[in-house]
Amino acid sequence: MSKLQHNITFLQQRITNACIATNKKPENVTLLAVSKTQSVEIIQQAYDLGLRQFGENYVNEAQEKIPSLPQDIVWHFIGPLQSNKTRFIAEQVAWLHSLDREKIALRLNEQRPASLAPLQCLIQVNISNDDNKSGIDAENLLDFAAKIAALPRLQLRGLMAIPKANQSNEALAQDFAKMAELLALLQKNYTGVDTLSMGMSADLELAIAHGATIVRIGTDLFGART
Ligand SMILES: *Cc1c(COP(=O)(O)O)cnc(C)c1O
Repeated sequence: MSKLQHNITFLQQRITNACIATNKKPENVTLLAVSKTQSVEIIQQAYDLGLRQFGENYVNEAQEKIPSLPQDIVWHFIGPLQSNKTRFIAEQVAWLHSLDREKIALRLNEQRPASLAPLQCLIQVNISNDDNKSGIDAENLLDFAAKIAALPRLQLRGLMAIPKANQSNEALAQDFAKMAELLALLQKNYTGVDTLSMGMSADLELAIAHGATIVRIGTDLFGART
């Protein structure tokens, strides 16, 4: 068995175990393969082993890789997005996890081709109130969501967070719990909201315990990035 095959099997087992431990359905949790810095060859190997959902962080890198990979990959963009790079995202990806600016949303709404489904959008929340992090502040969520929900070529599906690094388990659990509350609030106001993108290699179990439906995994899938 290849190292990659081993890692995929092990991660799927971790996800299943975390779901069983907290009464969640494993089929409701998606393993998103974070393929930033990984080559087309490695991504193709992961595809051949059955993965279909991949996440990229940098537009330039995504532009180089996406055209050479199978058409049925579901691409997610999870990094910061500048307004001069929205067209590629509007035309080439299915999901955007990092929506936090109205100006970007308006551009994406204009640029999303009519031939494609609406862009599936997650609002990024700066859940740890980290000065260096992108994301909207929690208290602005409903105002911002109203602006997104009014745009026909974007579909509001939920929330995403990148909690501050190196927090205690207790602080991290609090952040994940706050995200679950915010998702519930959003669900009260909008139909079709069902997605919570949180949890990475080191904390996917804690995230699933708090309701994550997409876990974003790089290191424990592909190995340490160089
Ligand atoms: C790199 C990255 C990940 C993956 O993190 P790992 O710890 O390598 O699993 C997840 N989410 C975002 C937004 C990232 O930039």
